Amino acid sequence: MQFKYFLPTKVFFGSNCIKENAGVFNTLGQKALIVTGKRSAKINGSQRDVEEALSASKIDFAVYDNVLSNPTVENVMEGADIARKENVDFVIGIGGGSPLDSAKAIALLAKNPLDSDDFFKNSFTNPVLPIAAVPTTAGTGSEVTPYSVITDTKSQNKLNVSNEIIFPKAAFLDARYTEALPKKATINTAIDALSHAVEGYLSNRASVSSDILAKESANLLGSSLKELTGESISFELREKLLYASCLAGMVIAHTGCTVLHSMGYPLTFFKNVDHGRANGLLMYEYLKLINIESEKRVNEIINSLGMKNIEELKALLDSLLNDKETVNEDEIKLYTSIAIKAKNLSNTLKQFSCQEMDHIYRESLK
Ligand code: NAP
Ligand code: FE
Repeated sequence: MQFKYFLPTKVFFGSNCIKENAGVFNTLGQKALIVTGKRSAKINGSQRDVEEALSASKIDFAVYDNVLSNPTVENVMEGADIARKENVDFVIGIGGGSPLDSAKAIALLAKNPLDSDDFFKNSFTNPVLPIAAVPTTAGTGSEVTPYSVITDTKSQNKLNVSNEIIFPKAAFLDARYTEALPKKATINTAIDALSHAVEGYLSNRASVSSDILAKESANLLGSSLKELTGESISFELREKLLYASCLAGMVIAHTGCTVLHSMGYPLTFFKNVDHGRANGLLMYEYLKLINIESEKRVNEIINSLGMKNIEELKALLDSLLNDKETVNEDEIKLYTSIAIKAKNLSNTLKQFSCQEMDHIYRESLK
């Protein structure tokens, strides 16, 4: 047996975990840049809790709150300029995956001023600023991953910087912040976590340790997604989703994402489909193809979801995703030509051809 397990992030989970562990910020630096989106962190209490904890710890801070959903290179460069001007020595990302990934990119670019081509080459000479993460969606797991997914308008795709130096030093998971997340966004982000657990289990980098995390995450997500077909979302369900998405983040931190994410990105770039939803739309057809060669692995992860077969998962996804987007011939060709170049393809248990990708888009989005 061979495996590597590396997760250098201190994870604090539970209501009030920022206030109760405010001293952690003193270990990261003396002046922080808070990186967040325009609105939600101000409404759900997360930004206030961080600012109060910083003030209590006598740490100065500046705020960059212009992060867009699916942040672009230009977006994170603007944030890095502010980090340099304000002379901060650590970064705190607050929000969904977009602010968390932006915080990582800003922490890199603040000390390594590169142009966009060089940024994605993933080679950094200077150290990165320490990063703390406060997720307010339950989906991406970015608080425990070494990835920063940034939109590159030049290549018309979402690209990934994958580097151990951007693992957050600390992550604070308080499900109260996710209570303001609308139902649709809760479903889409939960499906992102589902795709991390499933793809991680079906990655050729999966190991005994990532399998345990993937199965536990799948177990929690299977029941959570069924509960999300109901009317209301309890706080217990919010906590379960946040925990499961963090576990799924730990999975992909080790296995990487696979063809499903690579195929979802063009749907987000060109059709503005939410990231998790994009994965969910394509998941059944992806599983059907993997199932041909790796039925045992597919069955194991489907059973961990508490389901008998991939058709049962399809029925649940269909009920959560409602009316599906459609794609035309030109779009299928374009998306396939972009997805086939993605780095993540090499992580997939089965190698997908252009014809198979074409088939997945066609069958999923008709
Ligand atoms: P997001 O793009 O971060 O946020 C989507 C929307 O939700 C924004 O409008 C945001 O508003 C709002 N929002 C966030 N938290 C909220 C809350 N608690 N209450 C109400 N509204 C809230 O969405 P996401 O799905 O979490 O992240 C997607 C990004 O993560 C994609 O770029 C994806 O590629 C990336 N990702 C990264 C990893 C990784 O390992 N690094 C893994 C998977 C996905 P504001 O703008 O006002 O905050
Ligand atoms: Fe994802």
